[in-house]
Parts: sequence; structure tokens; C-alpha cells
Amino acid sequence: MKKVWLDAGHGGTDPGASGYGLQEKDVVLKIVKYAKSYLEANYKNVQVKMTRSSDVFYGLSKRASMANQWGADLFVSAHANAGNGKGTGFETFRYNGTGGNTLKFQECLHKEILSTMKAFGQISDRGLKQANYAVLRETRMPAVLTENLFIDRKEDADKLKDSGFLKAVGEAHARGIAKYLGLSGGTSKQPAASKTKKEAPKKKSSSSGGRAIVKTIQSTLNKRYGLKIKVDGYPGPETRKALLKGFQTELNKQFNAGLVVDGLWGPKTRAAAVNVRKGAKGNLTWILQALLICKGYDVNGLDSIFGSGLQKAVKAFQKASGLSADGVPGKATWTKLFN
Ligand SMILES: [Zn+2]
Repeated sequence: MKKVWLDAGHGGTDPGASGYGLQEKDVVLKIVKYAKSYLEANYKNVQVKMTRSSDVFYGLSKRASMANQWGADLFVSAHANAGNGKGTGFETFRYNGTGGNTLKFQECLHKEILSTMKAFGQISDRGLKQANYAVLRETRMPAVLTENLFIDRKEDADKLKDSGFLKAVGEAHARGIAKYLGLSGGTSKQPAASKTKKEAPKKKSSSSGGRAIVKTIQSTLNKRYGLKIKVDGYPGPETRKALLKGFQTELNKQFNAGLVVDGLWGPKTRAAAVNVRKGAKGNLTWILQALLICKGYDVNGLDSIFGSGLQKAVKAFQKASGLSADGVPGKATWTKLFN
């Protein structure tokens, strides 16, 4: 069963943007309600909750915490834009620096809604954007905010007044969600495979405590680099990607590497990777320790200090990876560590 949280922006004492006799809080509530009905009518194995189903106000953090507490798999916040009558079109937002599933979800939603809107006339595509919005930052699942046209622009407002348009846009939200989640229709049978839980591969736990130390790594990554990865104690692709983002961030900060912090190992990141030696201290050493711990090596502590215990682990890893075991991780060793 997939759980979808739909958040109609604003409400109650907070009308949001307004123009041409419309208020954002009313327009987005209609969109969200259409999205909910469509999801429930057309797909199996999906549960939908809304922040509000009437004209009431909830704060931003409250919206995120309700979705977190329920254990939502996805979060969508619907809004309408305003720009002193000058802006027009459709755009979507994900949280700053996120990629992976959040980006994938944004792409599904953006594409489906934009193409649906275009059936109603010319729509300018303002693109897939990133922002530091509270509901995107504080939610723990892939979260996207949609800005459905400009309420203070005549051409856009005319569409937002059309209930057929709002219904189509709401349903497009639902289809984008269904596409991302891989939901199947109410008439076809959902394969039982979706019920089997993915188990993270069990790694040999280090003497310093396996799961618990991986949780420490994951929550430190979230705090230090503003990420939102799962703190489950199982090192997987998400944790590795977050470590790589941390690595890129440190190379930018410490060596002016000018890398895009995308968590992807490419030629630029490889070229910027520096040697780290015994005696080093700091966040790069911490990332090295974390990577080796996640791979099951005993590094004798996660203390950001490159001592002999870490050097021993580096040598063992290099040997196991077919590299020369010099105990000094450079481009080749980092490549193996991140891939
Ligand atoms: Zn808004």
C-alpha cells in the first residue's frame, strides 16, 4: 500500500496569492480534491491523505510533520503563483540539492501536468526548480511543490476560473503520482511482488557496532550537508550517494574544485579527488572512514583522524580492489570506494 500526502497550500486566515476574483487557497484545494478522487477511483493499493479538506490554516512545519508521522511515501504541495501581473506559466520545485527519487518524482509530475495544461492553450514551461521551502525541507519522503499558473495574470487566471481546467490539472497530479509509484489500475491485479520488502544486504559489521554506526553516519550526513536520507542503519546506494555529495562539497570548500554537488561519480569529480594521508584530519578523513565502515571494514573509530587503524583498513581495501596497497587513497582508490 502506497501512502500519498496531498497538501493544498495556504487556507483559512492565509488566502495565499489573489487576483481576478480568485484566491490561491480555494483554487489549490479544488486541484488537490480532484487529485485525491482520481487516485482513489483509478488505482489500487494507494491511500491518500490531505493536509486540509476545507478552508482552514495549518503552519508549514505542521504540514510536513503530519506527513512524516503518517509515514507518507510521497508529498505534493499544490500552489498558484503571483508576480505582480508579470509572470505566467507552470513550474515545480524540489528541495535544494536533492536528486534521485525526488528528481524522478518531480519529472513525472511536471511532465504530466504541463502536457495536460497545454491542452487548454499556450502555457509557458518555467521548468523544474529547486528551493529551500519548509514543506520540502522538513518532509522525509520525496516531496514536490507545484506552482499552477499565475493567479494575478489575466490569461492564467482565466484558466484557473475554469473548473474543467482545475479538474484536469488535479487529475494530472494524480497520474504523475501514479506513474512515479508504478500504481496499476483498479481493474488489473497488482503483482504480489510489490509486497516483498527489499532487504538491505547484510554487511559484515565492524567492531564499532554495525547498524548503530551506520545510523550515525547517515544522520551526520543529513546534518552536515543538509540532506534528507533515510537513517536506517543500512548502507545502500542512497548513503553512498550522500557520502559522494559530502565529498564533492568538501572538495569545493577546501580546494575550490567547482564541482556540481550531484552525488554522481564522473570525470570531473575524479579529476578533483585529492590524496589523503596518514596524519590528516577533518571531513574528508571522516568520509573515508564512513565509506570503509559501510563496506564492512574496521577503521578503528569514526573520529575524522587518519591514524594507523584507518591506514590498515585502506590497505586492505586497496588490496581487495586490485590496487597497489600504499595506504594513501587517491583517484583510483576513491573511484573504487564510490563505485
Ligand atoms: Zn502559495
